[in-house]
Amino acid sequence: MLADIRYWENKAKAGKFAIPHFNVWNAEMLMGVMDAAEETKAPVIISFGTGFVGNTSFEDFCHMMVSMAKKATVPVITHWDHGRSMEIVQNAYNHGMNSVMRDASAYEFEENIRLTKEVVDYFHPLGIPVEAELGHVGNETVYEEALASYQYTDPSQAAEFVERTGCDSLAVAIGNQHGVYTSEPKLNFEVVEKVRDAVSVPLVLHGASGIGDEDIRTAISLGIAKINIHTELCQAAMAAINANVDKPFLELERAVRAAVKQRALEKIVLFGDDGKAE
Ligand SMILES: [Zn+2]
Repeated sequence: MLADIRYWENKAKAGKFAIPHFNVWNAEMLMGVMDAAEETKAPVIISFGTGFVGNTSFEDFCHMMVSMAKKATVPVITHWDHGRSMEIVQNAYNHGMNSVMRDASAYEFEENIRLTKEVVDYFHPLGIPVEAELGHVGNETVYEEALASYQYTDPSQAAEFVERTGCDSLAVAIGNQHGVYTSEPKLNFEVVEKVRDAVSVPLVLHGASGIGDEDIRTAISLGIAKINIHTELCQAAMAAINANVDKPFLELERAVRAAVKQRALEKIVLFGDDGKAE
């Protein structure tokens, strides 16, 4: 069934688990994730974003996302990831997403607040929650180079940012990065603790593919309540494609769905989200 992300993020925060956010942009990824959620009785977030529109038409694929979310026996949130403009998140809402992220983290503090608040003010009367980002989680690049100029979330800004924007959850930059890590991720957990103590909204970890299980458990114990996974689903799919490249296409696609399911299932269990559906 369709579910409210605020309810599940706050429940996760209180219960020291994390609700998984899976980027899905084709049928196999979506079905694989839903298979895992159903099997483990786990609430999940299925999510689309601008980076995928070159592969899949969101305005058509959204119908499959919403249909599967409604039919599911577990709670499912339909989410738009990294909304870069008001128009983009409005389009997401108009096509059935019941949660949006407004990512203005590339802008300086005051502009980030202004752009985020604009979206919050538009969506709250509609009952739609908004995730925001403070600090900046960069896109895939050489990790050590990214760290040299990394924009960590500033804990001293967090309370003011949340209060002035009215955002419902906050994505933090703690050394995490999107895509594949070219060396071991180095997470600054002190930042998580300080931001957690400064704000009451749940915290979100992006770029979690490739972060070790121990670091994930630590992050959850310190208050991370939503964790985003994309790259690892792609890697699982690619491994299945490579292992089944000589098989008929129908069979290969089933292998991809099964591989995505398996990886999603592992993350659900790691995040402590299994069995949490009500
Ligand atoms: Zn992200």
